[in-house]
Amino acid sequence: MDYDLIILGSGPGGYVAAIRASQLKMKVAVVERAELGGICLNWGCIPTKALAASAGIFAQCRKSEDFGIEVKGEITPHFSKIIERKNRIVATQIKGINPEEISSGHSTSNIDRFGFKHVDCFIIHYR
Ligand SMILES: Cc1cc2nc3c(=O)[nH]c(=O)nc-3n(C[C@H](O)[C@H](O)[C@H](O)COP(=O)(O)OP(=O)(O)OC[C@H]3O[C@@H](n4cnc5c(N)ncnc54)[C@H](O)[C@@H]3O)c2cc1C
Repeated sequence: MDYDLIILGSGPGGYVAAIRASQLKMKVAVVERAELGGICLNWGCIPTKALAASAGIFAQCRKSEDFGIEVKGEITPHFSKIIERKNRIVATQIKGINPEEISSGHSTSNIDRFGFKHVDCFIIHYR
C-alpha cells in the first residue's frame, strides 16, 4: 500500500501529525511499537495527574477540619482502587484517539484511526 507520510510513534507528536496530515488529504500510516498514545497517555501526563488527584483528595481529607468539615472514621487510601481509576482514565483517553479495537501481537491492524479517514495505524510489538 502506498502512503504520502509514514509516522514512527503514536505519542502526541505522532498522532497529532497524523490527524493534521489526514486533514490535508494525505494518506498516512502511523507505526507504533508499544502503546497507542505514547508516553503522555500511557505513562506520563495522564496517569500521573490521575494519581496526583487521588493524593490531593487524601491530603485534603486529612486537613478537612481546617475547612470546617468533619470526616468521621479513618481515611484510608486503597491503592488498587486508585490504580483502577487511573487505568479507567487512561483507557478513556486512548479510546478518544482510537475508537476502534486494536489488534496486538505481531499482527497489524489496518483500519481508519483517530476518527479521520486515510490514517492507518500499525501497532507492532517488537521490543
Ligand atoms: C511522568 C511524566 C509526566 C509528564 N507529564 C506531562 C504533563 O503534565 N504535561 C506535558 O505537557 N508533558 C508531560 N510529560 C511529557 C510528555 O509525556 C511528552 O512531552 C510527550 O509524551 C512527548 O510526545 P512524543 O509524541 O514526542 O513522544 P512519546 O509520547 O514518547 O511517544 C513516542 C512513541 O513512539 C514510539 N516509538 C519510539 N520509537 C519507535 C520506533 N522505532 N518504531 C515505532 N514506534 C516507536 C514509542 O513507543 C512511543 O509510543 C510527562 C512525561 C512523563 C515521563
